[in-house]
This record gives sequence, C-alpha cells and structure tokens, in this order.
Amino acid sequence: MKTLAAELAFFFRGRARSNLKLLLGYAGFLLVMMLTYSVLFQYVMMRVEDREYSFVTGLYWTITVMTTLGFGDITFHTDAGRVFAAVVTLSGLVFLLIVLPFGLISLFVAPWTEERLKRRLTQKLPEDTRGHVIICGWNPVTLATLRRLDQIGVETVVVTSDHAQAVRLEEGGARVVYGQPADPQVLKSLRVEHARAVVGNLRDADNVNLVLTVRALADTPVVTVVTDAERAELLAIAGAAGVVALNDTLGRHLAVRSTTKGARSHVLGSYGDLLFAEVPLGGCPLVGSTLEAAAIRARTGASVAGVWERGSFSLPEPTTVITERTVVVLVATAEQLERLEAVVGGDLSGDSILVIGHGSVGCAAADMLSATGVPFRLVDKDASAGCRRHEALLGDAASTAVLREAGAAEVSGIIVTTNDDGVNVLLTLACRHLNPGVRLVSRANREENVRELYAAGADFVVSRASVGAAMLVAALEGRESVVVTEGVSIFWGCVPAKLAGATLGQARVRALTGATVVALLPPDRAAVMEPPPDTAMEPGSMLVMIGDAGAQAAFVGHYGD
Ligand code: ZN
Repeated sequence: MKTLAAELAFFFRGRARSNLKLLLGYAGFLLVMMLTYSVLFQYVMMRVEDREYSFVTGLYWTITVMTTLGFGDITFHTDAGRVFAAVVTLSGLVFLLIVLPFGLISLFVAPWTEERLKRRLTQKLPEDTRGHVIICGWNPVTLATLRRLDQIGVETVVVTSDHAQAVRLEEGGARVVYGQPADPQVLKSLRVEHARAVVGNLRDADNVNLVLTVRALADTPVVTVVTDAERAELLAIAGAAGVVALNDTLGRHLAVRSTTKGARSHVLGSYGDLLFAEVPLGGCPLVGSTLEAAAIRARTGASVAGVWERGSFSLPEPTTVITERTVVVLVATAEQLERLEAVVGGDLSGDSILVIGHGSVGCAAADMLSATGVPFRLVDKDASAGCRRHEALLGDAASTAVLREAGAAEVSGIIVTTNDDGVNVLLTLACRHLNPGVRLVSRANREENVRELYAAGADFVVSRASVGAAMLVAALEGRESVVVTEGVSIFWGCVPAKLAGATLGQARVRALTGATVVALLPPDRAAVMEPPPDTAMEPGSMLVMIGDAGAQAAFVGHYGD
C-alpha cells in the first residue's frame, strides 16, 4: 500500500503535476465536444430526419461512434445525417484514439518509468559517507580510474546521464547514480561537501559547467580531463583544482616512443634537473650484453629505472640481457643523457615518422616531433577542424594505396592515433605488413585492447584509459608524477619526517611499499643516482621513486606526508 501511495504521489509533484492539469483540461475539452455532438445529434434527427430521441440516447450514440464501436442500432438515412456521423467518427479517431493515448504515454507513462529507473539507480549515500570520490561521466578512462582507486582503497560513486551505461555499471558492482552530473540536486544527494574530490570526465564545456556548480556548493576540489589542451586555462579559471590534458600527453607519449635515435628526444617528463626518458637500445653496441656488463651508470651517470620489452615492464636486474627491442627507462640529467647519446649513437637524421590521424592526439604527437626536429608526415581522411599548424595528406589510411602514398613503406616510425580501437588494430596490421622493420606505435582507447594491438604487431601501445587513470589518480592525490607505462609511474616526494636521518636500507621502502627509490636529491648537492642502502636521508631531501599506483599510495600510507 505504501509503495502504491509512493507511486501515486509521483503524479502530484513537479512537472507531473502541471502535466496532470493539462490532462484535466483536455478531458474537459473532450467532454464539451461530446455534449455538443449529443445536442447536435438531437437537432439533426429532428430537423432533417424528423425523428425524436432523448439527450441520453444522443450521448450514447456519440460515445459509440467516437470510440468507433458503432453498434448500428441508430443510423442516419439522409446525406446530411451521414456527413454529421462521419465528422463525429473522424474527430473521435483523432482526439480520443490518437491524441489521448499519445499524450498519456509521453506526459505520464514515460516520465514515470524514467523516474522509477532513476530511483532504483539513486541510492542515497549513507549519512556518514565521507572521503569518497565522485566521478562524473562514463568512458574507458572512468573504468580504469575506478579500478585504480579501488586498488588503493578509495570509495567511489559514478554519475552518468547515459542510462544504458548506468545499468551496466551497476550490474558490474559499481556504485552508480543515473542523472545529470552538473545538477546541484544530484551533487547534494552525493554529499559533495564531504567528498574527497570530484572528477570531471565529460566534454570540455560540460566540465566547465560541473566545476562552476561544485564551486557554488562546496570547497571540494574538482579534477577534470580536458580534450583540447588550450582550454586547460579556462578550466583553471573556472576553479578546477587539477586539469589533465590527456590527449596532449597521449600524443607526446606516442611521439617519444616512435623515434629510434637521439636520447634527448625520448624525454617523457622531468623533475627539477632530472629528466625521465625512455631510450631504445636497438641497433646500439650494447645489444647482446647484460645490464651489468653494459654499465650504463658507470659510463654515463644515468640511472636505469626500468626495462621495457614489447609491452612488458620490469625493474632492472644485473642479469637482464639487452636485445634489439629493449627500451630502458632512464633517470638522468641533460648532460648524462648527452653522454649516453655518445654511447648509443644519437643522430636524428635517419628518422622520419608517419602519423596516422590528425585529431588532438595526432596533432600533439606532431607538435612533439617538430619540437625535437624529427621530420614527419600526417595522414587523415578528414581535414582537421582545429589545427592550422600542420598540413595533412587527405585520404583513408585503411587503403593500402593511401598508406603507400603517405610513405608507410619507407618511414622509420609510424604512429597510429585514431580514436577507434578496431581501426587501430587494422592499421597496425597493415603497416607491419607494408614495412616489417618499422617502429610501430599504436594508441589504445580501452585497456582491454592493448594486448590485441601488440598481437597485431605494435612495438609500443599506449592506452588512453591507463594514462588517463594514472594522471587522474596522481592529480587526486595532489602529487605530480610521470606515467611511464601501463600503471607504472615515476613519482617524487620529500623524505617523510619518520624517515629523516635513517638510511635507505633501514627504511626498506621497496619491501614495505613496492616503490623503488631511483634517486635521492639532497637539498644542496647534486642528485645521487641509485643510492646505495647505506645512504642516509637528510631532512629536506627529495626521493624519486618508480612504482604503480598501489606503491605510490602505500608510500604515503606507510610513512605519512
Ligand atoms: Zn595539427
């Protein structure tokens, strides 16, 4: 009974209430129409056919004709009478059998069903919920971010206006609210004032709207993804605490991995004087030797923080053998990288890159290549709407003729950047077939497709979802980091008060958190690369570490800030 009352109450609230008034007005109109027909029936019968009927009979006749039941027990015998009957039948058809049901469905049934679904997907958060993260918008980046936050034990709730996705997510076990993310009512019901942060993963304009709405409600920081890097400033002006220029970063990551020579052109990010770079060792004299025998640090001062080989990342071991496909992640100063260049042979002249797709990712990759002086070509099937800097060859790269014309068979590196993973797999296969020795770098939009792209022949796959999630989580944690690969980042932090004065060996950072210390930066001296276990940590020093999101969170959790 109570639920029935709750369902009925729906019709007396808000828009349903004004719709109800509309319905009552329409019913009044139908009643007047029927009464008028009944009176006219009596009049036509009397004047034209010379027969007399009561008003009730007239009403009975009108109802049976308008509802097209037409029993045929009362009929007109003259043309005038038949015309009148036809008019009544037609108006019944239109006003009673078409307009009325249509109005009922669109004004009542549809909003009511939607409201029911909404109620099912709007669990009010428990009164004591705090420290949760509200994620607005749904795409593969959201899913990857949910996984990362779950991994580090942060509670989340997703808001999306895509109903089908909301249902699917809820069935997958996530906490979901179906509604407009920038609706103040929705945000209030999610206890936005007690949330740790709000993540805006919507279109740029909707993100601006979200930031302004949250700012008006609470002090909760908002971190947003921005598609067009030029709009990052606008979001910051609106009050976003963090802005992640995802496509820009993705483009740079792809560009860095596409070239084969010149250590300086592989810098992914920096902290102070330290640069983080991925340098391919293929074709250099070190191929075939172990990392220990290569003695990169002894010869150049640069520290090897990780090793990549066709999609798998590992921490460096002295016994790791360098192959044609090995890429090392280095922490080094600019001079050290120059020294390394002398060892591995750095010369950009041999590189030429083909960038497939001139969207915001392809454009950012092209910018990075021109900044490092690498010659490149762009190909896209549509002219770019937003870019005036680059000239692209127009043509569908799915056609081998277009690929050949763009030079796919001769270039040293190819970057595949479209936003459709199916197309990227196809293009990767086609490019590998055309140019077996090329360095092939592909963009994945969903984490699930990374493996498929490697199988199609990519040397490197950079997943938008993984990079986006890693950047968002780092921004939420309020710390900077440089994403090196699927889930692995280089991050840094001040030596925690608990560890000041202790040696690295005593701190057991790796055993306790999973993070590896790759460099120690004392306040007034040069950086110490790969610091030995007996290195003492002076207060005020900075630790540069490598590890996954879990390691980064564990470091903060274990030692405090
Ligand atoms: Zn461009």
